[in-house]
Amino acid sequence: MIVLGIESTAHTFGVGIINGKGDVLSSNRDMYKPKLGEGFTPFDLAEHHYNGCLKTLKSALSGSELKLRDIDVIAFSQGMGIPNSLKVGAVLARYLALKFNKPLVGVNHGIAHIEIGKFKTCAKDPVIVYLSGGNSQILAYIDSRYRIFGETLDIPIGNAFDVLAREMDLQMPGGPEIEKSANGGKFVELPYVVKGMDMSFTGIMTAAMEKFRDGVDKKTVSYSMQETCFSMLVEVTERALAHTNKKEVLLVGGVAANKRLQEMMSIMCRDRKAEFYVVPMEFSGDNPVMIAYTGFLAFTSGQKLKISDSSVRQNWRTDEVEISWII
Ligand code: AMP
Ligand code: MG
Repeated sequence: MIVLGIESTAHTFGVGIINGKGDVLSSNRDMYKPKLGEGFTPFDLAEHHYNGCLKTLKSALSGSELKLRDIDVIAFSQGMGIPNSLKVGAVLARYLALKFNKPLVGVNHGIAHIEIGKFKTCAKDPVIVYLSGGNSQILAYIDSRYRIFGETLDIPIGNAFDVLAREMDLQMPGGPEIEKSANGGKFVELPYVVKGMDMSFTGIMTAAMEKFRDGVDKKTVSYSMQETCFSMLVEVTERALAHTNKKEVLLVGGVAANKRLQEMMSIMCRDRKAEFYVVPMEFSGDNPVMIAYTGFLAFTSGQKLKISDSSVRQNWRTDEVEISWII
């Protein structure tokens, strides 16, 4: 079985093709990069995706040496995400499904981050720490759903890093730049905001921006931001392990690439005698392979979407998805 996956929830438009063993036959990503010091609007993203989507599709097909008629299933990220971006992927997916008479599967983007992480690391039943530009959640699988044990009450951690980076004139995406800049920094206190199992990152981000404006150097601001946010995440993850009695932790999403976060989580896991897994960097940020792979899981467990049900779902939460492929 050959599955073509389309990712277009936010900054990245991507097309990936996999076979039924999960081998990647090709993967093409085109990421919108704003100018230094600028952010992006939903309109900018949609323009970028509309302009580049056919080129990305063609490159993915030629990379796999397949034609559209060879594809068995079309999967696309249906939500959650930025509506203007999501719609580009949805339109292309619907068109391909109708024109070539292929089944269509709508994939939840967050679930795709989780499933590619489990597949690539062979983690079996982990507490999942899902951290990206659009989400920050700590989840675990119980009774047909990934249940959310803790999450951000305001902005996602990746977004907080990006905004802080922009304030400090660092390149986008900001997370990797904050990581580099943290090297050799000292610690200054920032608000530490854990409420039960939930977290808030807005106040920390604002306080870090104020420190920078008051003349604290970039290294120290970056280091303190990382240490504070990551400590909060480790605290909540540890409690999720204790509550669920699970014995594994899996880190997924774009922020999973951060080495200091990996180090802090792995120390906590070692102390609790839990196994620690991180999704490989190639699959941590938004990518179309995770959509194709999750589309494969969904389709082979009986899911198929009618065109009339294929509208984008901008607020489609991870814990709303009925997981039909775990028995
Ligand atoms: P995603 O939304 O899953 O594609 O993840 C993108 C987010 O991950 C952006 O907010 C990036 O700034 C963030 N990110 C990527 N690499 C790192 C890193 N090494 N450290 C912290 N954040 C990162
Ligand atoms: Mg993502």
